[in-house]
Amino acid sequence: MVDVLVVGAGYGGLSATMFLAQHGVDVLTVDRHASTSIHPRAAGQSWRTMELFRFAGIDEEVLDASPRARGGLRITVAASLGGQVFHRLYDDVGAVDVSAATAMPHGMAGQDLVEPIMLRRAEKFGATVRFNTELVSFTQDEDGVTAVLRSSGEETTVRARYLIAADGGRSRIRSALGIETDGPGSLSHCLGVLFEANLGDRVRTDVTDLFYLQNPHFTAGFCSTDTPDHYGFAPDYHPSKGESPEDFTPERLVEMIRIATDEPDLEPVLHWTAPWEIAARLARRFRSGRVFLVGDAAKVTPPTGGMGGNTAIGDGHDLAWKLAAVLRGEASDALLDTYEAERRPYARMVIDTSLHNMKQRMHPDLDVTGLTPAEEPMALCLGFRYRSTAVLAEDDDPARTENPFEPTGRPGFRAPNVALGTGQSTVDVLGLGWALFSDGTWAPAASAVSAETGLRIDHHVTPPGTFGLTPGGASLVRPDGMVAWRSPATPNPPAALSTALTQLLGR
Ligand SMILES: Cc1cc2nc3c(=O)[nH]c(=O)nc-3n(C[C@H](O)[C@H](O)[C@H](O)COP(=O)(O)OP(=O)(O)OC[C@H]3O[C@@H](n4cnc5c(N)ncnc54)[C@H](O)[C@@H]3O)c2cc1C
Repeated sequence: MVDVLVVGAGYGGLSATMFLAQHGVDVLTVDRHASTSIHPRAAGQSWRTMELFRFAGIDEEVLDASPRARGGLRITVAASLGGQVFHRLYDDVGAVDVSAATAMPHGMAGQDLVEPIMLRRAEKFGATVRFNTELVSFTQDEDGVTAVLRSSGEETTVRARYLIAADGGRSRIRSALGIETDGPGSLSHCLGVLFEANLGDRVRTDVTDLFYLQNPHFTAGFCSTDTPDHYGFAPDYHPSKGESPEDFTPERLVEMIRIATDEPDLEPVLHWTAPWEIAARLARRFRSGRVFLVGDAAKVTPPTGGMGGNTAIGDGHDLAWKLAAVLRGEASDALLDTYEAERRPYARMVIDTSLHNMKQRMHPDLDVTGLTPAEEPMALCLGFRYRSTAVLAEDDDPARTENPFEPTGRPGFRAPNVALGTGQSTVDVLGLGWALFSDGTWAPAASAVSAETGLRIDHHVTPPGTFGLTPGGASLVRPDGMVAWRSPATPNPPAALSTALTQLLGR
């Protein structure tokens, strides 16, 4: 019996695998493909993803993997690379000082570079990952899940306490559970193309240069990649008008790339093409008994905003610390319900913001009535709020985000980025267990409650006035870096801390 079986070794599955293994959980991961993604696909790691990667110790490796990583991002909506510019959405995100909100820079590496780094780290932490292995079927009962796997034509049965469905947007596990999805569904179709050509200075190579092209011939995405002279081009096509990927002959693609680049004599070398459905779908439930949906299996979001990969990684991380706590006997099953309670509203916010972006950048005619409002990228990535039984809220503010440059330290929000005076900032000390921040008065309480409960609770002294604390107060931060509870000065800190943890963990 393994503790957790993960199906899918994409961003969602590898994130769950890496963080579960880091928490010491016995995890087996299978993927029907022969390896991790061999194509760049989702490029870009948000500041939050980079914080999570720091928890796992792979942040530097991910930044180093992409020569563009430290350069920043430029996004332009234009007719062609050298044609009329309709909007310039960002001009070098790297130039913005984010230090008040996070200690981490934005990453830019492609999925083909990042997944192997996550895989290596997961294996180093003790996870077993098997490629060329497909989940054929599964059943669940009160004590676990029984899964039938197929590899080289041979079927084996595996028993696991929990199953994570990280099997992508067409999740067969989700279908087998009968979980339906909401949302507009299919929005458009595009053909992902990777090509090689010398484009000189038409595209910046020191930053990630992303274009949304709108002209009488096509609408398309266009971006630089981590490999010199290699570019991604993704023209839309319309099945409703009888169009299909087969219509894009190499000759037609070359012609389109010439129009996109304003280079009528360009001889691009086409390396790879794959159809891609742009869609917005949100699963009605993220949990069914002992089975949890993460990543695209739980929600599919349009790529305008670059959140598909980032939220898959966030889902995996959120579920991992909660499963680890339950498997170690630290928390009751109720903690596992907070995965859906926290990640599903977040997924809704991400999808709606990405749809607003899509209207602005690619499809002015997209109907966005009834959607929740768009969020600013920093607020979406760093200023979101969780509401669940794993947060002891102290206010009834209905806002779903706050400005991460002015963090309040309220329960439900990310712990503020604070220099701790030890040469470290908050992100350096979070990730593995619970953390208690105070002016020092709560240090004995952290030790006492840790000894009493067996929970890892590290105490850190915070500079006065940070975390929104009053003198003698304390802030309790979860293993994912979210504030769980805050207390003013109290005569009996160990009792207060112990009561809060009992409530938070449903013990
Ligand atoms: C061409 C393309 C370009 C993209 N570009 C962007 C972008 O620019 N920005 C962005 O944010 N997102 C982009 N995406 C989406 C992004 O890649 C996904 O959001 C992200 O990969 C989700 O991760 P995931 O782990 O949930 O799913 P996936 O990465 O799809 O992984 C699912 C895995 O499950 C495996 N699997 C499925 N069924 C089984 C089974 N029965 N048994 C075993 N294994 C199984 C599959 O082999 C696969 O490896 C792109 C996607 C594509 C296809």
